Amino acid sequence: MLTRFAPAPTGYLHLGHVANAIRVWGEAQAAGGAVLLRIEDHDRDRCRPEYEAALLEDLDWLGFVPDLYPTGAFRAGRCESRQSDRGDIYTDVASQLHAKGLVYACRCSRKEVQGSRSPEIPESGSSEVPYPGTCASLGLPLEADVGWRVRIPPDSVTFNDRWCGPQTQTPRDQCGDLLIRDRRRHWTYQFVATVDDHRQGITDVIRGVDLLSSTGRQILLGRLIGRRTPATFAHHGLIMKSPTQKLSKSDRDTAVRDLRAAGWTRARVIDAALRGLDSSPP
Ligand code: GLU
Repeated sequence: MLTRFAPAPTGYLHLGHVANAIRVWGEAQAAGGAVLLRIEDHDRDRCRPEYEAALLEDLDWLGFVPDLYPTGAFRAGRCESRQSDRGDIYTDVASQLHAKGLVYACRCSRKEVQGSRSPEIPESGSSEVPYPGTCASLGLPLEADVGWRVRIPPDSVTFNDRWCGPQTQTPRDQCGDLLIRDRRRHWTYQFVATVDDHRQGITDVIRGVDLLSSTGRQILLGRLIGRRTPATFAHHGLIMKSPTQKLSKSDRDTAVRDLRAAGWTRARVIDAALRGLDSSPP
């Protein structure tokens, strides 16, 4: 069993991350498995090296020790578990998809896609708009400053979430053809997370329920890039700031380093995260 802790250095580690880390390390320990640390800095606009340094320090202070890629491996410089150091792997996987005729260039802006929602399609509570396929058959060259999309088959995906139960998702209806690289040549979260979980041999993905709806597309994309058996997924409840708002990195009142500065001990931080988890669905 190999699971992962995969924070994005777009802000400071907060109680929500601590709650996730407790589950990740707890499940690994219970299964006699291992934890891999991955720094998900694919968002070149929002990630900052100082946030990465801070989260490594906070993890050390909290006592969460990764079995694969310990914090020192990232401090040493280039690290193969930091997404910004994995560009060659993403290019390689994208070329394989391209060779199978699955990638096409897309010049639509996010705004154009958002505005394309058909009035007949009910919103069903989701703000996600499936890509309508505007550029799918235009044969635009991939070299220019265009996005890259992967053709998503109409298949429904079923999986049994360890904590949320049986799920069925149809990625083509949820998101349509998946953007894997944006017009500014940045790899997208869905693509890099899927590639990394496959290439790093992750068997168990343990994360917050806010990513449950991304799971079907990650399983489907995983198949397209050659993953034979999908990972097992377990999504846990989030610590909420209010009944409708989850914690975010801008909530400085729950940032681990601020709690530390206010004199909190490690045990108190862990306990606050555990209590937050207890009161959160599912
Ligand atoms: N990098 C994501 C985050 O910050 C986690 C993605 C995942 O677990 O798939 O929260």
